[in-house]
Amino acid sequence: MCIFCEIIEGNIPSKKVYEDDKLLAILDIAQATRGHTLVLPKKHFDNILDIDKDNLENLISTTQDLAKKIVNNLKAEGCNILNNCGEVSGQSVHHIHFHILPRYNNDDLDIKFPNHDYDLDEILKEIDG
Ligand code: 5GP
Ligand code: ZN
Repeated sequence: MCIFCEIIEGNIPSKKVYEDDKLLAILDIAQATRGHTLVLPKKHFDNILDIDKDNLENLISTTQDLAKKIVNNLKAEGCNILNNCGEVSGQSVHHIHFHILPRYNNDDLDIKFPNHDYDLDEILKEIDG
């Protein structure tokens, strides 16, 4: 059983932000910003590529509700909603989850994208297949 399934089963303690019959939201044990929250379905799916649409829609919809509440009540200025898919992307727990990262003007979270000079038309052709 994966670590999040263990948390859902109550075998590992967690700080619950929200729970219903389908979803659980908990504070991340490693707080990247104050209020860093993980939202996960109670049913195990590895990642965003293998979850079905109904469960995904429910997950993202509740993530939005919780993000609004967290940003508002913790007096954050905004947030990042983050999903890692696959080890290469940084996913370490292979049970789909969205990170809600409340953002503050003075926080030290640094998410930066590099800027590569790829051929965009070539990429579009390849995506189209
Ligand atoms: P990922 O890297 O898969 O996108 O995110 C996994 C997250 O789960 C990490 O931010 C990590 O800190 C968090 N995490 C790992 N184990 C536990 C745990 O036992 N309890 C809680 N609350 N968070 C955990
Ligand atoms: Zn699981």
